[in-house]
Amino acid sequence: MKKPIDTQNIILHKCMRETLTLEAAIKESNRCLLCHDAPCSAGCPAGTDPGKFIRQIKFYNYKGAARTIRSNNILGSVCAHICPVEKLCEKACSIKALEDPININGLQRFATEYGKIHKLEPLKRSKKNNGKIAIIGCGPAGMSCASQLAKMDYDVCIFEREPSAGGVIKWNIPEFRLPEDALNYDIENLANQGVEIKFNSAIDSKESLNKLKSEGFEAVFISSGLSEAFMLDMFKTYTNALDYITFLRQVKFGKDKLNLKDKNIAVIGGGSVAIDSAVSAKSCGANRVYLISLEHLAELPADEEEIKLAQLMKIIFKSGSQVTGVIQDGNIITGIKGIEIDWVQEGKFTPDNARQVSGTEFSLNVDLVVQAIGTKPGKEVGNFAEGIKTKGKGVIMVNDTFETNIPWIFAGGDVVNGGATVVQAVAEGKKAAESMDKYLKNRR
Ligand SMILES: Cc1cc2nc3c(=O)[nH]c(=O)nc-3n(C[C@H](O)[C@H](O)[C@H](O)COP(=O)(O)OP(=O)(O)OC[C@H]3O[C@@H](n4cnc5c(N)ncnc54)[C@H](O)[C@@H]3O)c2cc1C
Ligand code: SF4
Repeated sequence: MKKPIDTQNIILHKCMRETLTLEAAIKESNRCLLCHDAPCSAGCPAGTDPGKFIRQIKFYNYKGAARTIRSNNILGSVCAHICPVEKLCEKACSIKALEDPININGLQRFATEYGKIHKLEPLKRSKKNNGKIAIIGCGPAGMSCASQLAKMDYDVCIFEREPSAGGVIKWNIPEFRLPEDALNYDIENLANQGVEIKFNSAIDSKESLNKLKSEGFEAVFISSGLSEAFMLDMFKTYTNALDYITFLRQVKFGKDKLNLKDKNIAVIGGGSVAIDSAVSAKSCGANRVYLISLEHLAELPADEEEIKLAQLMKIIFKSGSQVTGVIQDGNIITGIKGIEIDWVQEGKFTPDNARQVSGTEFSLNVDLVVQAIGTKPGKEVGNFAEGIKTKGKGVIMVNDTFETNIPWIFAGGDVVNGGATVVQAVAEGKKAAESMDKYLKNRR
């Protein structure tokens, strides 16, 4: 008997951005207008300098292109797969006025892959003779800050709570969007710079921070991200209601591959993370996956490309809807109740602005609820950095040099910007490293 075609796996496979062949890379780089002011480079928050690496590819200097990317952005390989380029470098591309923008992301994947295959020489190793700096958290912001400081010969140690590096990239971004070896390559490059990473080493108390001072660390960079997910009160006591952090990690690294065959899943949220959760549920064999959001379809904060993928994966959009209650059997949710909404004031997409539309009530049978309605920094930040100024949902306040109100403590990445992108975290880590260098030099 013929094996049935697994269309969903084919769709997911296609969704991974492909690496360009040599011929395709040459052809693409030849479309570049070589603008004098390289607006694409100005459009990259992390200073990866596409203007320069595209020119190098165009003139057949592929290793040079790989070096440019790696020396400017230690997460260059990861960014080549998951940067939202349509809002950044490709948005700024001059040729866009005439035709499609240059496939900058594709050229970046080509060059980093070329560097990997042709074994670029390791980055310069830190001489470690310029003072000790501690970094809390080994996600993109921490890795970028560490790499930049190592270039300036600091003795850098990253304290990471988990047993591996990468932060959200490692644990939560689904495999169908980012191949694991892209992150491994970037981690390897960082390790070659002589940066020490202490795993299973959370900094979570005042004592642990004081200990760093007594061990001779002269400055600290907090890059601990957002580790506490928001949960709606109505779901808090049920065992089959998860936040997306737990769910996506289980999908990627659960002891046994999560089997959701024939199960119905409700994902609450309308952003990119909600779509990643819904598509991941489908990839684990779920039967019906509902994406329930207050925003209507045209108002969803998720990107167009992501929405298209969700539609291809047959995710059922219950947009413009609010969950109003659960149907339960003991402490297990067996269904959810909802109602459609309108906005009281147009353009304000918040729960307090939603008006329920009577007569549109619905209920859905579900086996699992996944909530993707936002995250905030973990409580431990206030514990270890007592007196540190925060705002809003607890994000750390910094000045324009990424310095907090406590002189030797700097911070950057999601824990400061409230949740953005990998390339933004890289940019903030780099800028903070430059400021820490100035701060330490001024003190001497
Ligand atoms: C599902 C999902 C999909 C995403 N997709 C994209 C995408 O496609 N493109 C994109 O650009 N961005 C994407 N993002 C956003 C991006 O991943 C983040 O903006 C980025 O990871 C932030 O980096 P960070 O270093 O600030 O924090 P994190 O990545 O959160 O890293 C923080 C690190 O600190 C560690 N830590 C926390 N507390 C402590 C402590 N007390 N002591 C020691 N270590 C600690 C954590 O274990 C973690 O390793 C996505 C995010 C999610 C959740
Ligand atoms: S790092 Fe991202 S934003 Fe910057 S040039 Fe590369 S793909 Fe574009």
